Amino acid sequence: MITPIDSFDPINFRHFLHQYPELSHHERQTAALICQQLRQFGLAPKTDLGGHGIVVKFDSNNPGETSLFRADFDALPIHEQACHHYASCHSGIMHACGHDGHTASLMMVAKYLCLHPPITGKVLLLFQPAEETGTGAAAMLQEPWLAQQHIDNVFAYHNLPGYPLNTLVIKPNTFACASTGVTIELFGKTSHAAKPEDGLAPTLAMTEAIKLIQHLPEQFPDVFTLTTVVHASLAATAQGETGFGTAPGYAKVLATLRSDNSHTLFAMKSLIEQQIAALCQQEQLGLEVSWQEWFNAAVNSQPHCQQVIRQARLLALPVNIIEEPMRWSEDVAEFLAKWPGALFCLGSGEQHPQLHNPDYDFPDELIATASQLFCALIKDKHSNVSEMAVD
Ligand SMILES: [Zn+2]
Ligand SMILES: [Zn+2]
Repeated sequence: MITPIDSFDPINFRHFLHQYPELSHHERQTAALICQQLRQFGLAPKTDLGGHGIVVKFDSNNPGETSLFRADFDALPIHEQACHHYASCHSGIMHACGHDGHTASLMMVAKYLCLHPPITGKVLLLFQPAEETGTGAAAMLQEPWLAQQHIDNVFAYHNLPGYPLNTLVIKPNTFACASTGVTIELFGKTSHAAKPEDGLAPTLAMTEAIKLIQHLPEQFPDVFTLTTVVHASLAATAQGETGFGTAPGYAKVLATLRSDNSHTLFAMKSLIEQQIAALCQQEQLGLEVSWQEWFNAAVNSQPHCQQVIRQARLLALPVNIIEEPMRWSEDVAEFLAKWPGALFCLGSGEQHPQLHNPDYDFPDELIATASQLFCALIKDKHSNVSEMAVD
């Protein structure tokens, strides 16, 4: 599947990635494949950055700005329902978020940069693992080599079903929400179901906890917040046993909390911790609260949004400047918190299956659109003035 530069086909490359998806933190083969292809192009990528992260740098050795373009490459624990010839060969794992397509697009940019190196400044192409768990970007930034780079521009895109194919979807300020998962465990005491008064069932406390979570947004009327209870269960103990003879001694509630800014999400987190603790104290229940998959809000700079919009218009792409941020989260937030830039979406088609669905497949046409848009941004920022005049 590794091909010389003149015969490199990003669609074939994407299909190959699609066949061998790997879960977050386990993307060893995918990372090796990306590195092999970059080396085949004659490049010398830095590898194993914060896990399986990869960066390849193009340095003009002339003064100028430094731009970083990022693609993610992890997959999801979903059984694919494919109707194409490159279905996942890894049972129960699939590229259901299109990260195979994001990676193929960035590989196309690598090819472009080999043939048209930057004339001013530097361009970094960053391939990020573990996006879905919200941990890959922060882990990469733990690497001093990357953290010490002075980046002027960060750009990244995500494909987006529900919007017309190739449409740029963008907004300044928060583009994708901050979010977190929370697991709440309530510990009481079991009893014979015929003698519930001898035990301490967390049943009512569980329903109260669900209500607290669902009503949490009312306490933040001025900002966008959203809570979703995703699971609730009662059991005898944390092992999950159930039976008609036993009144429960254990309850578990899982929820996600979201906001358009990270500060509010922190406030939601501490409020829910206080309120659930008070509830458990009142009911004399034991309590454990744990937080999972924390994502900060992905915040775009106004000038970088304008630059993306301008280049999209020059490429005659439809532009949709949205009012509300995306409710989902994107781990590129960590890079955007450190350096200015813009995350944007490209429409995958109005009728396209949704992300994280078993019948989802990245639309191949978007590879050309995304890589052309990235290359237009590179030409704009890293060509010298005389060449731009010729363009
Ligand atoms: Zn995803
Ligand atoms: Zn994704």
